[in-house]
Amino acid sequence: MVRCQSSSVDSSNQEYMNPHDHSSVTKIHPDPNREFPPLIDSFGRVHESLRVSVTDACNIRCRYCMPAVVNGFLPQHRLMSFDAIHRVVSVLAASGIRKVRLTGGEPLMRPNLDQLVQQLSSIDGLQHIALTTNGMMLADQLPALEQAGLTHVNISLDTLREDAFQQISRRQGLESVLQGIDAAIKSRLQVRLNALMLRDINLQDCVPLVQFARDRKLIIRFIEFMPLDADRNWNQDQVVSGSELRSILQSHFGSLDSVGRADPSQPSSDYMFADGNGGVGFIDPVSQPFCSSCNRLRLTADGKLRNCLFGREEWDVKSLCESNASNQEIYALVAQCVANKYAAHGISELNFKQPDRAMYQIGG
Ligand code: SAM
Ligand code: SF4
Repeated sequence: MVRCQSSSVDSSNQEYMNPHDHSSVTKIHPDPNREFPPLIDSFGRVHESLRVSVTDACNIRCRYCMPAVVNGFLPQHRLMSFDAIHRVVSVLAASGIRKVRLTGGEPLMRPNLDQLVQQLSSIDGLQHIALTTNGMMLADQLPALEQAGLTHVNISLDTLREDAFQQISRRQGLESVLQGIDAAIKSRLQVRLNALMLRDINLQDCVPLVQFARDRKLIIRFIEFMPLDADRNWNQDQVVSGSELRSILQSHFGSLDSVGRADPSQPSSDYMFADGNGGVGFIDPVSQPFCSSCNRLRLTADGKLRNCLFGREEWDVKSLCESNASNQEIYALVAQCVANKYAAHGISELNFKQPDRAMYQIGG
C-alpha cells in the first residue's frame, strides 16, 4: 500500500433556490448495487464528494493562497493523467461518491480540461461535475466545458475594484473575470460566486459584491480566510467571520432569514434576504467549523489522496495506478485514507500546525 507523509473544509456547494440552477438532481441516493462498500470513516461520516485538483499552476497570485514568486509548478509527468483521474473517480463513484469538483491552482490552466469533463461524464452514478475557477479564462472555455457535461461552476470574486483586485491577486484581470461571470450566467450551468474578505484589503467590498450578485440573481458565498496561505501570514485579525459579515449586510440590505443547510453535509449556512431579492451563504471553517458533517475527499494534482485540507498525511494513488494495481487495490487505498480521517481540523487548538502544502498545492 503506497502511503506518504506530507502535509477539508470547503469552499463550495450549497443547494437552495437559485435561478441559475438548471440541474435536476440535488439529493443523493446511494445505489445499493454499487461495486464497493460506502466510504464511511470512524466517526460515521459517509463520503460522497471529491475535489480533484488538476494543476497547481495559476495565472494570478492571490496573497491568501500563493506566494508572490513561485518556485516552479509541477512538471507534466508529475501530474495525474486524465486517464488515471478517470479511473480513480470511477472507483470512487462505485463506492458512493456523487459529486466531483475540479479545482486547482487554476483548473482552466490545464490544457483540454473539457476532455477530462467528457471522460468523467461517462461515469455511472456521478450527479455533479463542478468547477471552481478564478474566471479569467472562463468565457473562452465555457462552451466546450458545457458541451462536455459540466454541471456547476463557482467563480471567485473578491472585489469589484481593479486596484483591490491587483492588491489581492498581484496581477491585473478583473475585467476578464467579469466577462467569465457574464458568460456563465448565459450558460445552462448552475453558477455561484465565492468571495474571501481580508479585513485590511477588501472588507469594504462585501456590500457592493452582494449588490452585484443580487442584480444578477446569483448566490454569493463568503468563505473565511483559513491558514493555508503559502506566505504563512495567516492571522486571526485578518479573518472576517460570517457573523460579522451578516451584521454588515443586514444593516445595509435589511434582515436575512436563515434557510439552514439544504444538505447537512454542505458547509455553507445559507440566508435569503427578507425582501425576497437573492441570498447569501457563509462558509465559516474558522469561527464555526463544520467538520462533524464533512463528507469530502481530495485528490491533489500530483495524485495524492487527502481526507482533510488540514491533514498532514497523504495517500499516493498516482503511483498505485502506475503500478498496474487493480481497482480493488485502489479502493483499499481510498478506504485507508478515509479510515484515517480525524474528527476535526483543530485550527483553534494550541498545537495546530499549518499543513506543509498551501491551498493552491492541495486544491481549494
Ligand atoms: N483558482 C480557482 C479559484 O480561485 O477559484 C480554484 C482554486 S482556489 C484554491 C479555490 C477557492 O479557494 C477560491 O474560492 C479561493 O478564494 C479559496 N481560497 C484560497 N485560499 C484560501 C484560504 N487561505 N482560505 C480560504 N479560502 C481560500
Ligand atoms: Fe490562483 Fe485560485 Fe489560489 Fe487565487 S485562490 S492564487 S486564483 S489558485
